[in-house]
Amino acid sequence: DGELVKAVDRIMRHADEVRRLGIRANADTPEDAARARRFGARGIGLCRTEHMFLGERRQLVEDLVLATTDEERRQALDALEPLQKSDFAAIFRAMDGNPVTIRLIDPPLHEFLPDIVELSVRVATEEATDKDRKLLAAVKRLHEQNPMLGLRGVRLGLVIPGLFDMQVRAIAEAAKEVRGARPEIMIPLVATVQELEAVREESARILAEVGVEALIGTMIEVPRAALTAGQIAEAAEFFSFGTNDLTQMAWGFSRDDVEAAFFSQYLDLGIFGVSPFESLDRDGVGRLVAIAVREGRAARPDLHIGICGEHGGDPDSVHFCHEVGMDYVSCSPFRIPVARLEAGRAALAETDSDTR
Ligand code: PEP
Ligand code: MG
Repeated sequence: DGELVKAVDRIMRHADEVRRLGIRANADTPEDAARARRFGARGIGLCRTEHMFLGERRQLVEDLVLATTDEERRQALDALEPLQKSDFAAIFRAMDGNPVTIRLIDPPLHEFLPDIVELSVRVATEEATDKDRKLLAAVKRLHEQNPMLGLRGVRLGLVIPGLFDMQVRAIAEAAKEVRGARPEIMIPLVATVQELEAVREESARILAEVGVEALIGTMIEVPRAALTAGQIAEAAEFFSFGTNDLTQMAWGFSRDDVEAAFFSQYLDLGIFGVSPFESLDRDGVGRLVAIAVREGRAARPDLHIGICGEHGGDPDSVHFCHEVGMDYVSCSPFRIPVARLEAGRAALAETDSDTR
């Protein structure tokens, strides 16, 4: 067993020496961050902040949604900020000077609100409070038929004044507190440079005010963003491909429903050999990625480019990321060893074909 461990260790070290791709992890708790480092990640490529608004903090999100005046909104955000600051400080500490890409809050607002049926039942009883009634009205108002295509990501940040600012301030304050912290701020679901400009300006202002430096960049996960990457790069210091959403939107498959519904039949029919959510579809999604890498770099040669969709830990997709010239892949902690190995193999495959 000892021999085997040593051999694996030697192979991994060799892969690390030859690979050109950096390896980061998708992690959003200090525990995951520590695990990722043990597996060999040198940074966090995606820290999702959504879960930080669940549990006891739901109450505060409800207050935020129910706020009718600037003052009420301010109060709700002020209550969230110190909690976020300690979330981020803990992750910076766990990553000990390695870069941490924090993505501003992404999924639809209704995911943080009570279920409409439960709430309706409660409102029909005598115990219902005034807040319950107001919440029900808000939940109805925010209801969407296609929430994944609705009010989420940057759209949420632009529509709720102060929400992104609160997160950016918490990131900046946490970075100031933790020595060596290297924050990167990532904006989700951007489709046009105008959305990014608005958030970037405000974020840069807050960073300067706190006196902290951080890269500001964007997810590329909407096809329009990939196709207008040249414009978007003018406002972004880095790109990170969100290939989960990019696959969903390029194919028109719902990432939440489709697999259970009919993918096994699609596999049987030979429409594709493997689900495009598992392994990056080079012909379609891959072309969008290649266009964005090329046009992004043409506009900004020092643009830092990575991937943080699930494909970042899939062997064939890692080869694709290497070939297209990305700087790093980011995947869940348990997939890091495979990503390291494949990044090394991709680099070796390239030298082999060069010398052939
Ligand atoms: C993605 O869309 O690929 C992504 C990384 O973001 P999320 O999965 O959180 O939507
Ligand atoms: Mg996404």
